[in-house]
Amino acid sequence: MIAVSKGQPVEAIVSLLDAGQRDFGENRVSEALLKWPALKERYPDIRLHLIGQLQTNKVKDALSLFDVIHTVDRESLADVLVKTRSRECGTALKFFIQVNTGEESQKGGVRPDALPGLMQYTQPLLSITGLMCIPPAGDPPAPHFALLRTLAEKYNLSHLSMGMSGDYETALRLGATHVRIGTAIFGERNPKAEI
Ligand SMILES: *Cc1c(COP(=O)(O)O)cnc(C)c1O
Repeated sequence: MIAVSKGQPVEAIVSLLDAGQRDFGENRVSEALLKWPALKERYPDIRLHLIGQLQTNKVKDALSLFDVIHTVDRESLADVLVKTRSRECGTALKFFIQVNTGEESQKGGVRPDALPGLMQYTQPLLSITGLMCIPPAGDPPAPHFALLRTLAEKYNLSHLSMGMSGDYETALRLGATHVRIGTAIFGERNPKAEI
């Protein structure tokens, strides 16, 4: 379980850390940079997951802070990740490809029909270990989770990042290995704390 701490105060994060939680997710690099470097010093075994869109100008910061990046969705981003990682001295990062299962124009992720090309391009470059999706709001999530699982099986990927507070039970039933839970753990977010 990834505890999604965007928009949450540091005190709430610390109580979860003290209870033993070690996987946390943030969707903005800039917000994560304000909170996590100090926490990582205090709790060195934290695993930090980037679950939001990654702009190429934030790649250097993202690689310095995050352990797993769930949102690889285009060749140009893979190129910058590889180039930056080799320059910054290669840490063992894991990557998921985000699939836009609802084919929504405003959402990140590669469309399912473009996934084969992106897999072929990225697999020799980055260690792609799984797929991630965010079903469209208002759609029943199960068909999206089932599609993601089918795609992951096709490429022998063992990890499925799917399911949030409202639909994690469905996601688990359909094989999720990483659920991303925010409000169900922390309560409502403060939108002003999201940068
Ligand atoms: C915010 C967010 C979550 C957590 O959402 P909740 O509904 O608060 O559980 C999960 N995944 C992504 C990509 C998010 O941006």
